[in-house]
Amino acid sequence: MTEKMWGSEPFWGLGYDWDPDWVYTDRQKELRSTLIELCEREMRDNAKRSDDELLFPRRNLELLGEHGFLALTVPEKYGGLGENHVAYSMVCETIARYGCASTAMCYVMHIGAVNAIMLRATPELIDKYIRPLNRGKIGTLSYSDPETGSHFWYPISSGAERLNGGYKVRKKASWTTSAGFADFYVVQTTSPDFKGYDDLSVFVIDGEGVQAQPSLWDALGLRGNQSGPLTVDNIEIPGDQLVGPVGDGAASNDESVDPWFLVGSSSVWNGLAMGAIDIARRHTTRKKHVDVGMRVADYPTIQDYIGEAVMDTNACRLFVLSVAGAMDKETDDNTKVLAPGDFARANYLHWAWQIKFEAAKNVAHVVDKMLHACGGSGYKRDMELERYLRDAKAGWVMGPTNEVLRQFVGKAVLLGFDSLDYWNQAYNRRAVENEVKKLDTQGKRELAEQLLAQADEDDSKEPAKQA
Ligand SMILES: Cc1cc2nc3c(=O)[nH]c(=O)nc-3n(C[C@H](O)[C@H](O)[C@H](O)COP(=O)(O)OP(=O)(O)OC[C@H]3O[C@@H](n4cnc5c(N)ncnc54)[C@H](O)[C@@H]3O)c2cc1C
Repeated sequence: MTEKMWGSEPFWGLGYDWDPDWVYTDRQKELRSTLIELCEREMRDNAKRSDDELLFPRRNLELLGEHGFLALTVPEKYGGLGENHVAYSMVCETIARYGCASTAMCYVMHIGAVNAIMLRATPELIDKYIRPLNRGKIGTLSYSDPETGSHFWYPISSGAERLNGGYKVRKKASWTTSAGFADFYVVQTTSPDFKGYDDLSVFVIDGEGVQAQPSLWDALGLRGNQSGPLTVDNIEIPGDQLVGPVGDGAASNDESVDPWFLVGSSSVWNGLAMGAIDIARRHTTRKKHVDVGMRVADYPTIQDYIGEAVMDTNACRLFVLSVAGAMDKETDDNTKVLAPGDFARANYLHWAWQIKFEAAKNVAHVVDKMLHACGGSGYKRDMELERYLRDAKAGWVMGPTNEVLRQFVGKAVLLGFDSLDYWNQAYNRRAVENEVKKLDTQGKRELAEQLLAQADEDDSKEPAKQA
């Protein structure tokens, strides 16, 4: 097996023996070597600056652009590398592990935006947003709404109207990675003339069309991310910046946004876990206790920490790669063109929920244990472990949060997928009847009157029926 290098020296962390190399093609392994080299040369140093000074990792993203990674999953005929979901997982993991987690998360959101466009690509969208990727254009996803927290699929503060063959779009987003720095923003709003919150549409908005507040971003970790709030203030856009048909939002989420985000972000958490183990290996094999003539790595307790962390993290990595591989199989290695109504990745969405939950849970545990293994030295900033720990904490809270995912899976298993009711539309007769049972006759009468008055009011708002 070839030796993993860090510049001209052997890598100080875990070698290729501990990477699941049998799942990667030779080309993917070459891409990984290029990335490790870029991380060693520049990206890791930039990560420290981004973290210290709350700087957007522009130079790191430029480097990724110069080497084709910004168009990793784009077909070669449009100037991309034509790669698949497994390659994407490897790239996200590698950037987070050896380089910069903020860059890796900006990259996840970028590839998410690129693939939301590619799902419903048109010649106009390809010319305007996809072909220029190699020149360093950055995109992002702006979904989370201030009114609905981590339920990012529920855009209450947004909307769109038809206007002169185009659209007038308004959007309020509470968080948007790369906000104020990206060149284009894929946003989701309710559809023009929408009837319910499941009727959503996807638009792409140019950088000039958004008002971002990056100065409001000051967080525990992923400090280069710049995930500040963003507003699109009733701007007019041409009709060809609608992505997919009107009402395609839910399908776009299931088929593109969620699968790409969940595979990418899970890989970032796995990369951070491996990176923390790398740092712990470096420290514990070098630090000596002269009194007992041992290195920290010689204590069985420390070996147990590392052994468990490697096994748990590799289980998470192989889980992600297996689901990414299933998506590759279903999409003929990310080459299948899907018409609205056709689904491929979406068939694995409930698996994608599970990989994110496990990766985010694991990384929080692993960074903690690696800190314990390194002792007080790990607590100091110069070892970088504390940055990995802070960055990793975003895993659990980023939407869909681990609380939500645990609910999704448990509820779907017990009550079926329909019970998830993303848009709060299903009537829970059991709960209502149980509450009504508690009322006395007077209370029941009052409730009945209140409901009749509401029904009359609703009727009066209905448009007059044609005779
Ligand atoms: C670093 C970072 C980058 C981000 N980047 C982006 C981005 O680029 N684009 C974007 O659109 N968004 C982005 N987000 C937003 C993210 O996806 C979530 O929307 C956000 O983290 C939610 O935070 P909140 O305070 O609103 O959480 P809340 O939703 O208010 O959650 C508070 C608590 O309630 C729990 N909870 C919420 N709903 C339920 C439920 N149904 N069942 C049980 N428990 C529940 C949560 O799990 C949590 O414990 C980013 C967030 C972070 C931290």
